Amino acid sequence: MPGTYDLDRQGLAELLDGEPGFRAAQVWEGLYRRGERPAEMTTLPLALRDRLEEELGAQLDEAHRRTADDGATIKWLFSLAGGAQIETVLMAYRDRVTVCVSTQAGCAMNCQFCATGQAGFTRQLSTGEILEQVMVARRAAEPRRLSNVVFMGMGEPLANYDNLWAAIERLHDDVGMSARHLTVSTVGIVPGIKRLAVASLPVNLAVSLHAANDELRDELVPINRRYPLAVLQEACAAYIAATRRRLSFEWALIDGVNDTRKDARELAGIARDLGAHVNLIPLNPTPGYAVRGTPAAGVGDFRDQLRSLGVNATVRSTRGVEIDAACGQLAGSTPVTLGVPGVLADGQH
Ligand code: SAH
Repeated sequence: MPGTYDLDRQGLAELLDGEPGFRAAQVWEGLYRRGERPAEMTTLPLALRDRLEEELGAQLDEAHRRTADDGATIKWLFSLAGGAQIETVLMAYRDRVTVCVSTQAGCAMNCQFCATGQAGFTRQLSTGEILEQVMVARRAAEPRRLSNVVFMGMGEPLANYDNLWAAIERLHDDVGMSARHLTVSTVGIVPGIKRLAVASLPVNLAVSLHAANDELRDELVPINRRYPLAVLQEACAAYIAATRRRLSFEWALIDGVNDTRKDARELAGIARDLGAHVNLIPLNPTPGYAVRGTPAAGVGDFRDQLRSLGVNATVRSTRGVEIDAACGQLAGSTPVTLGVPGVLADGQH
């Protein structure tokens, strides 16, 4: 059975074969523009609503939902067909409402400090499974309007390129979101960055850098052994040249590991060359990584050093740490809560 958001227009038209010709457009508008489930499409005859509800089933089964930050952050745990589980996080800020979606169940990239990486890879998500996370979050955000989608949940988006791209096109063409409100975050899959550079929509690109020399990056982000920094920087430059979009680097500050003056200088060199913005994230705790995040004073110092070296750097607000919803904490199950209080400030999501 196809999921609600897996069918393209053609597939929907085939499903509605025998119905009046205008039905496909009507259902499509209901699904994407208004975010309705078939059962809610009151302009359709009841029998058709029932049939669509049955044949276009929801793919995400809510297993658990937690809220934090006085309700401003919601994290869902969804069960999928076959038993895999994923997480999705909705974050409401003063000026925007952002959903952070997963693109894979688990992840094969093996970054030590990331809970998803520690858990390993289960499977790719379909386009419909990616989109349905957005549509569920969009409803939960009401009456506010969901403004941004970041592909920064579980998984490596560029290792599921085709399904990711189909979801991006649907969000742009059918849900009506602009490319500048969509952000793809990657560990640095160079062929994927090159494909994205020549794609038809200029989405924002975030690269999870975390180290600016190959020796340290090989250790923290193992894919660096395949796509080392020089090759990654070249792909980033090509992306900027082709899309005219500002690139951002994510840098999780790890106490004594990547927060020294030398790290700041190396990072500044790369960021300045590319005109990239740096998003600093104090490392969030995960069960499988013993080193802690840089304390707040050190985070501020690191930011100031980058600024004095001419780099545009900000500290990303941490949302939902106490419900394991923050960056790097998504594990697709109900993990042990580490009980670190969240910090409420507006940031870069
Ligand atoms: N695989 C993609 C998408 C995941 S985005 C990527 O790597 O970009 C999740 C972001 O959180 C990445 O920048 C990741 O490096 C970062 N992250 C992972 N573990 C973290 C942790 N423990 N604390 C803070 N950030 C973390």
